[in-house]
Amino acid sequence: MLHNADLHCHSTVSDGLLSAPELARRAKANGVTLWALTDHDEISGLAAARAAAGEVNLAMVNGVEISVSWIMGREEQTVHVVGLDFAAENQALRDGLAQVRSGRDERARQMAAELDQVGIHDAYAGALRYVSNPALISRAHFARYIVECGRAREVKNVFDHWLTPGKPGYVAHQWAKLADALKWIHGAGGVAVLAHPGRYRLSKRAQTELLAAFKELGGEGIEVISGSHSAEQTREFAQIARKHALLASSGSDFHGPKESWLDLGRAPPLPDGLTPVWSLFAAAR
Ligand code: AMP
Ligand code: MN
Ligand code: MN
Ligand code: MN
Repeated sequence: MLHNADLHCHSTVSDGLLSAPELARRAKANGVTLWALTDHDEISGLAAARAAAGEVNLAMVNGVEISVSWIMGREEQTVHVVGLDFAAENQALRDGLAQVRSGRDERARQMAAELDQVGIHDAYAGALRYVSNPALISRAHFARYIVECGRAREVKNVFDHWLTPGKPGYVAHQWAKLADALKWIHGAGGVAVLAHPGRYRLSKRAQTELLAAFKELGGEGIEVISGSHSAEQTREFAQIARKHALLASSGSDFHGPKESWLDLGRAPPLPDGLTPVWSLFAAAR
């Protein structure tokens, strides 16, 4: 079946601005026919998402976006792996995600201490005011506080000056290992998708290594369409998906009405010659 699939977005249980039920209704209204909620390192929004999706008759698969530290040689790169269509009650997955979340609070305190040095005061308390799930404080919450302080016009501009490698407020962090993230997803019967591959600052060689490592570990798909991909990146990753026989996924990475590149359901269709990742999902039939 042909789908307008949106398999990547965030609710208030991570760093999105809308609740899971609000997202389900917005997805439906925008023409999405297959939906996944993929909060960062967190699946506590899925029950409410499923109930709301049911009410509006929207097909849904479970989702999560896992933060991963990928180590190649001496370099380390944070990458995101989207898990889809897994059993949310799986204990190893739940324990793994709890472990990934557990470092966030201390990291946030360190980020605030750094921001204090450059004149952005009380950032921990300030960011927390944007957090609805205390287990999940992210850079996006800090970005909202920095906008509130008048230091940037929009959340998107914050990352040009703060919170990214080499800039104040960036604290290197140890996330999950790639192998563990894939093990948790697969152990729960799910499918692993490399999120927004165009976002990583990798050399061609490192990118090829990452894709090879991901495939080697059983990774099934990559996001060819992402709210954070340019048209050129879409073509590039479509080509890569064909070449490496990876399934293709599509997601807006929607965080909120004024904070996102793309609204729910507004992504272009997959380019030709690709097998959609949803060909694996019973819910898509
Ligand atoms: P964290 O998981 O705490 O490192 O936060 C990552 C989140 O910060 C992303 O999922 C986005 O919500 C936000 N973010 C990171 N970089 C950018 C950017 N360049 N523009 C907008 N949001 C960003
Ligand atoms: Mn986010
Ligand atoms: Mn991401
Ligand atoms: Mn995301």
